[in-house]
Amino acid sequence: MTEPLIVIERLSREYSSGDSTVVALDHIDISIAAGEMVAIVGASGSGKSTLMNILGCLDRSTSGSYRVSGREVASLDMDELAALRREHFGFIFQRYHLLNELSAIGNVEVPAVYAGLSQHDRRAKASAILDRLGMAGRLEHRPGQLSGGQQQRVSIARALMNDANVILADEPTGALDSRSGEEVLRILHEINAEGRTVIIVTHDMAVARRAKRIIELRDGVVISDQPNHSDLSIAPIPIEDRSTARSPAKPAAPWRASFGRFREALRMALLTMNAHRLRAFLTMLGIIIGVASVVCVVALGAGSQERVLANINSLGTNTLEIFPGKDFGDTRSTKIKTLVASDARVLGQQIYVSAVTPTVSTSVTLRFGSIEASAQVSGVGEEYFAVKGTQLAEGTFLDADSVRSFAQDAVIDDNARKALFANISTSPIGTIILVGRVPCRIIGVTRQQQSGFGSSANPTIYLPYTTVQARFLGDVSLRSISIRVNDSTSTDFAEQAVTGLLTQRHNAKDFFILNTDDIRRTIQTTTGILTLMVAAIAVISLIVGGIGVMNIMLVSVSERVSEIGVRMAVGARQNDILQQFLIEAVLVCLIGGLTGIGLSLGFGVVFNAFDVGFRLIYSTTSIVAAFLCSSMIGIAFGYMPARNASKLDPVTALMRE
Ligand code: ADP
Ligand code: MG
Repeated sequence: MTEPLIVIERLSREYSSGDSTVVALDHIDISIAAGEMVAIVGASGSGKSTLMNILGCLDRSTSGSYRVSGREVASLDMDELAALRREHFGFIFQRYHLLNELSAIGNVEVPAVYAGLSQHDRRAKASAILDRLGMAGRLEHRPGQLSGGQQQRVSIARALMNDANVILADEPTGALDSRSGEEVLRILHEINAEGRTVIIVTHDMAVARRAKRIIELRDGVVISDQPNHSDLSIAPIPIEDRSTARSPAKPAAPWRASFGRFREALRMALLTMNAHRLRAFLTMLGIIIGVASVVCVVALGAGSQERVLANINSLGTNTLEIFPGKDFGDTRSTKIKTLVASDARVLGQQIYVSAVTPTVSTSVTLRFGSIEASAQVSGVGEEYFAVKGTQLAEGTFLDADSVRSFAQDAVIDDNARKALFANISTSPIGTIILVGRVPCRIIGVTRQQQSGFGSSANPTIYLPYTTVQARFLGDVSLRSISIRVNDSTSTDFAEQAVTGLLTQRHNAKDFFILNTDDIRRTIQTTTGILTLMVAAIAVISLIVGGIGVMNIMLVSVSERVSEIGVRMAVGARQNDILQQFLIEAVLVCLIGGLTGIGLSLGFGVVFNAFDVGFRLIYSTTSIVAAFLCSSMIGIAFGYMPARNASKLDPVTALMRE
């Protein structure tokens, strides 16, 4: 003879609280065959619920044996127990334990989600069962919109959803008025008539007498176990549509099933966030601010760096500038007259120098006809344009001849051309203008240049330095010498060589050298370091945001302990619970992250609209990094609360209200 469906042998369950232990079940033996309808009765505290929880694999015995279909339950791990609950047991609770965020049909679908039924099959089956239980018009109602009796019918439908062969009902009529209670009992009878095993726990003998067998517990011991001959059990009303209700819907393919569970977890997370909008938003705020500040700071850093480097580059690349004096702050530098044209000439003979030019400067007023403009006069050598990389728009440069002969030839820049020749469409080449009181012939016009340090729309005119020294300054000392270093030589080496050469010539180091490469490097590293520092501070705010997420997730888990219990009772794996809460945490962070990125881009638009001298440059790296960072934070800080949730004991979770 085969073993009955449920066999309990010498099973005990003890609770230890502090030093004392309470024996809730004391060496009981029960066996229940498939298709029975059993009532377990007893006074409050006699161990009924404890027995029920063990039967439903929500709880484990302390000692003894419990076998379902011949399988020893004690040897199963958590996920195998979950599978057993999913496939064999349906729970009906005294307080229904429905999920308030879900509609009636949504609640009924939950077990099938964990069983891996496709969404379509799930819907169809859930609505068929609800139909059958007389809930056809209430599919989309929330538990709060249903009466107690209706809620209990939803909970019965949920118990039937996975075609459980054992229905466990703990005081199913306890919270109902007598008519609704009667209705529920009638349904349980129908279920039993379909061939399912029904086990009802009750303290009410009137309810117990409706079963076909009554097991009575007292202080954890079975005191009687008899068939019930009183003929109060109602004849089951024929069920019209058994085929749809019991049609074994095929579970979807494994990957589809896990995708379905993922989608369901996502939906739950969205529902929960929607139910606690303000809380979710405040939690996100930390992430939003963190991400927005990281992205903005990096963009600001990149933007200002670009601006400064553009200024440096306008000085020319690979160039050295030699000035008299100790450094820029040296007030006596104008009195130092040792930097002269012969220095430039000697430097020009060095192998590492590709071009060199002396420079002197002054300001004058330019006159052409009735037009006047104040301008900067640059006295330069013939190689000036080679050193600076200046391009001509038209005409020619100054040549060695014009320098040697103190020629009154001038090259004007684009600003000067605009200032003097705005109304004239013909070329200014060949025109004579007055530079101060010196008439000069224009031989060239430079192309508009990327503006450098402090440069503006100020007109500039280039004359041979010899001319400027003789006609304007009356002095042979130079303001500076600019060198373009050979491409094959490093500027650092050239700087050393120039220092050595000039120190020897002057018998003193009465000059200083500006190395544009050096400046560029310094600026790059300093702005890099600054950006890094501020970004680090922003990252700290992200971490603080993450801690906020963790905090809220812990609250959310403890608020929803009983939901977690219900999910476990209907067969959720530990992983399903972990996934659900983790998704919620990651979702908060992702939405926060995206909002943060959006916010910083918006800030950029506003910032760039105001002309503050530089623009924000967003790096894709920083945006992607911020995005990844915020999801990592979601996972990192959401994991602990989610794990706590998944490790909850189903019984304790269910008990907590
Ligand atoms: P019933 O459902 O018949 O009212 P229970 O099965 O809930 O009884 O409880 C049986 C006994 O076990 C009671 O004495 C109760 O105090 C004790 N008990 C139940 N659950 C716990 C628990 N989690 N910790 C300690 N004692 C418990
Ligand atoms: Mg109880």
